[in-house]
This record gives sequence, C-alpha cells and structure tokens, in this order.
Amino acid sequence: MRYGIFSDVHSNLEALDTVIKAYEKEDIGRYLCIGDVVGYAANPIECVEKVKALASTTVAGNHDWAVVDLFSVEYFIPVAKEALFWTKNKLTDSVRYFLESLKPVYENEDLTLVHGTLEAPDEFNYLTGDIAAAETFSALKGKICFVGHTHRSGIFIKDYLDSIHYKESGQIEIKEQNKYIINVGSVGQPRDGNPLAAYCIYDTEKKEVQIKRVSYNIQAARAKIIQAGLPQYLGERLLSGT
Ligand code: ZN
Repeated sequence: MRYGIFSDVHSNLEALDTVIKAYEKEDIGRYLCIGDVVGYAANPIECVEKVKALASTTVAGNHDWAVVDLFSVEYFIPVAKEALFWTKNKLTDSVRYFLESLKPVYENEDLTLVHGTLEAPDEFNYLTGDIAAAETFSALKGKICFVGHTHRSGIFIKDYLDSIHYKESGQIEIKEQNKYIINVGSVGQPRDGNPLAAYCIYDTEKKEVQIKRVSYNIQAARAKIIQAGLPQYLGERLLSGT
C-alpha cells in the first residue's frame, strides 16, 4: 500500500489543491489526514469538503474540535482564537457534522495516527524533543505513528536499545528492529522556516517514508486571508513559513 498522509491544512485551499495535484503523480492507494483541516486561513468549507472526499480517515485536530465546541478555545493564542470564531461563523451543517465525528486516534495493521501525542490524544500536547517522543513510543502498540500539530516535519527513531534518534526530514527506510514517529509537517501553514507545503508518502512494500515539499500560490492564500478580515499576521506568516 502507498499511503498519502498529510496534516494541518488549516483552511488553506491553495496549498491543499497543490498537494493533491502532487499526490496524483505518486500512485497513492489510500489517503489519511492527521487533523486541523480548519483554522487560520480563508477556505474552511472547501478544505473540509475536499479532505472528506479524498481521505478515508481523518483524525481530530485541536482546531477541528474547537470550532464545534469539543475543545476549549482557552487553549489558543489570540490570533488563533480570532480565526476560530471567524471559522465557526462559516460552518455549514455537513461540515460541522464531519468535524464533530472525528476521533482523536486511528490505528490499522500498518500505522497509527494522532494529531498531537499518543499518551494523551485529546490534550493536544506538542511532540517536540525526546521526552515527549518517549511517551508516545510507550503508548504505541504498532511500529509507526504519524503525527502533526507542530507544523514542523521530522522523524523520531527508537532503536532496539531503546535509544531515540531524530532526523529533520526527507526520506527514511523503515527497519524491522526500530519504531518510528513521523511528523508529516503542515500542508497549509509550515513553521519550520520553509514556506513550501509539506506532505508525506508511506510505502509499506518498499518500507519507505518520504516527506516532500511543494511550492504553491502563497500570495493568493495570503490575499484571501486579509480580504476575509482574518488577522493580517496569519497571511504574512505564510510567506516566511514561521
Ligand atoms: Zn495545526
């Protein structure tokens, strides 16, 4: 199976459309989304409809749950809160129903998905550093867990001696003796200093994970955010990928 796994679209339709086009060249058998389809940018409805049609499974992100009152808005910084209230006013019944139905964890025979961390999936903690990685590894029944939430792609590897190693990004071969946490980065609002949209491919036959980047029309996404009356900062940050 070749999985197309992506996260943190954040209502950025320009980035999502470009990533979908890039995936079309990759012979993907199944798409999975790690949450935060909405929040921040100007096209929540369109993004939810596209993800709903594309991905066989989507797990809940903190923004997805917050706009349908399943998670506290007190968690968020002011610009995120503002975008949440803006998004809430746009929701249609079918989009609201979809977001309400999202579960925080998904597991199958090949992989596990969670937006934040696996030991507390509904708290949306950030998986950064070896201590947080160790907690998720302890809760992981399978071999490989895909996460999002930080908007920074990266790979944690736990070897047979229980040592944890970190690799920034790129491509990795999945070895039998190791366990893996793969942060797929963000489609719609990267924060690793690289403004290009991030997306991931997991090939279970080749035993290979790739995290790729693609350029999209950032200026259009930025202009829409500003025209929509969302905080200007949310448009500007797309340009720098921060
Ligand atoms: Zn996010």
